[in-house]
Amino acid sequence: AGHADRVAVMYAGRVVECGPSRAVLHRPRMPYTRALLDATPRVDGPARHRLAAIPGSPPDLRRSAPGCAFAPRCPHVTPECHSSRPELTERAPGHRAACLRPDLDQASAPVGLPSPPRPAAEQVLVEFDDVHLHYPARGRLLRRAAAGTRAVDGVTLSIRRGETLALVGESGSGKTSLTRTLLRLERPTGGRVRYDGIDVTRPDRAQLRRLQREVQVVFQNPYASLDPRMRVGAILAEPLRAHGEPADHARLAGLLDMVGLDGGALELYPRAFSGGQRQRIVIARALALSPQLLVCDEAVSALDVSIQAQVLNLLAELQDRLGMTYLFITHDLAVVRSVADRIAVMRAGVVVEQGPADRIYAAPAHEYTRTLLELAPGHPGGPGGTTPSSPTQNRIPSPWSA
Ligand code: SF4
Repeated sequence: AGHADRVAVMYAGRVVECGPSRAVLHRPRMPYTRALLDATPRVDGPARHRLAAIPGSPPDLRRSAPGCAFAPRCPHVTPECHSSRPELTERAPGHRAACLRPDLDQASAPVGLPSPPRPAAEQVLVEFDDVHLHYPARGRLLRRAAAGTRAVDGVTLSIRRGETLALVGESGSGKTSLTRTLLRLERPTGGRVRYDGIDVTRPDRAQLRRLQREVQVVFQNPYASLDPRMRVGAILAEPLRAHGEPADHARLAGLLDMVGLDGGALELYPRAFSGGQRQRIVIARALALSPQLLVCDEAVSALDVSIQAQVLNLLAELQDRLGMTYLFITHDLAVVRSVADRIAVMRAGVVVEQGPADRIYAAPAHEYTRTLLELAPGHPGGPGGTTPSSPTQNRIPSPWSA
């Protein structure tokens, strides 16, 4: 939206729509393009809602079927769509689409469903109390001692039981470093991190066992998160066996069922699955020990927009069903809009703003938050937006100038 003059949309190996960017993005003529746009999170979308995910999966290109390849997933399908293949035809000057139903040109976009209301979270589960994580300098710079790195510089933040807290910021803002102190991957150089009253830097044996069970992580890259030499069944059984729990077929199939996958997947290797399916397997493994806190570290950043919507909806459903708490780490404020109860914005190791998601979207108090919002899809001045960028927009201010 922010860079291209023209857009071509492909599905099942064919271009199904192409034309000027503005026309394709603001008035799509092909249901697949509209479905992609509807599945895209936006900062101007409703708060905490289920995204309009595209049902089903892309077709298997090894099997060719007559008719429109999108027909099994299209909400506007007619019997003719299964037998006649649509060709690209001109719908407006320079704007072509492959769809047998030109009457859909005016169809309005569906809006995502609101998430069921949840009681406000009160009880604190995680506390970061004036946490510092400083790395000492290595070597010298121009004969002076080089400065160390203050990856986290005095962060005080809490996560309440049952809520989704989104930790937002660019790369290098310190959000991942802060999270690593909670996961015991880094030891803070100052301050305290507590989980349900446990000091995570000094747990006793029983507390450590509890932390290992109750705090689980879903990382960004589902391709790197699964051992390609292990079958899915062995991957899911691993955490259960490590904690002395039975890992029978029924239990493992039940985990896959929770994330919408068939029990037959237990016998397969990760390479048999798409990116979205692999992320579902990663989530199933994280759920194996019935965690209380799920840390989602850029968990949907590597997925394309339609799969991203499916995984975000799945995470929301699991939270409603299992009452888990989420720490959602991301740079994407449009994704945050659809999932977060509260938001903390980090920059240069410091939390510059935190509060209820509705308040931050309606009236961001910090210049950095405003700039992040202006860069997000759905903002009037953002990519594909309706107003031209102001001189201050589309530019992240230097962390050292505030
Ligand atoms: S041709 Fe039919 S199935 Fe294909 S996109 Fe158009 S309405 Fe949907």
